Parts: sequence; structure tokens; C-alpha cells
Amino acid sequence: MSEEIDKTHDAVVACPFCGSNELYYQRKLILHKYRRLSLKCVCGWAKGSIWSQSLSERQCWLSEGAVTAGGRIKFNASSVASVEVEPIKDVETGCRLCNEGFDPVRVSGRLTDTLQLPSEETWSVGCDGNCGKELEFGFTEPGRKGLLKVLGVHDFDPREVYPEARFVKDWADRGWCTKAGVPVAKPDDGGTD
Ligand SMILES: [Zn+2]
Ligand SMILES: [Zn+2]
Repeated sequence: MSEEIDKTHDAVVACPFCGSNELYYQRKLILHKYRRLSLKCVCGWAKGSIWSQSLSERQCWLSEGAVTAGGRIKFNASSVASVEVEPIKDVETGCRLCNEGFDPVRVSGRLTDTLQLPSEETWSVGCDGNCGKELEFGFTEPGRKGLLKVLGVHDFDPREVYPEARFVKDWADRGWCTKAGVPVAKPDDGGTD
């Protein structure tokens, strides 16, 4: 499934539960697109489109690799794990004058509107050793940038780490970050509401 991983830097990380030196990350990126194909009649009598089809497309991209000692990750190219296309609306009215209607052969090259909807990104980090547990983590920069730091792994300091989104509530309860996910030791940006 994952590509070959260079393990030369991995010896220093250790799973806080079983001591395994193999920690992995997985990034899942879900892209939503909304597409609309439409046809107009050739004679121009009918106003608007005489046939249209709307599709919702959901692409899931996966990237996996190793988390190394300093919190760097071996970033493997993403691969498409799944694509789901769901028709959400079909409209066919046809044109009474020219009888133009839906003809699949003619659809290509016709009007296509594509709307890119906000993407969803989730990361997980886990142990590839005996325990197989999922681990809490965050990044040293906001927006999942910088180094990836795993809770319980040697140099982890919560005051320097922006938690992965689903850990924000727990970390805020522990007093490590604000409810907006900003580390308490970093007074810049982010609300305290
Ligand atoms: Zn027509
Ligand atoms: Zn483990």
C-alpha cells in the first residue's frame, strides 16, 4: 500500500505505549466538486438549457509514510483511494421547435460548470508496531505546517504544537491551547473565546 520508506532516521522515535520505532502518518484529503453539464437547443427558441445534469463528485486522496525523529515526515505522493460520482439532478425539457433534446454524443464540449467546494483534510498518526494505537499529535506551525510532533515522543512540548483539529477540545481542556487550537505559549493570533 505505502511506498518504500527510508527508515534511516526512524530509530530515535519510539511509541509511548510499546516502544516501537515505527510511527506512521496518514493524510486523507477529500475533495468535493459539483459539476453541471447542460445543453441549449440549436434554434434558440427555448430559453435556458433544455437538458442538464448535475453531478456531485467526491475524491479521496490518501498519502502515507513514516514519521521520523525530529518530527519530519517522509511525504509520499498522494494517490486516489476512491472517487464517487453521484448524480444529484437531471433536468430534461427538450425544445418544441427543433426537437433538440438530450443526445449523449453531443454532450462533450457543451457547457460545463464546475464548482469546487471546500475540501476536508484529516491526518492521523499511529504506531506500526505491537500496539497499533493511534497517537495524538499536532504541528509546529498553524495550518498543518512545520514539523509533526507526536504526544509522548521525546521532545514533545504542547506549548509549541498546534493540535490536529480533532484533538483541539481535549488539548484545550488540558490547558495546552485555546479553544481555537492556538498553543498557550504563543500569544499571537487566534481568539480566546
Ligand atoms: Zn430549439
Ligand atoms: Zn505502539
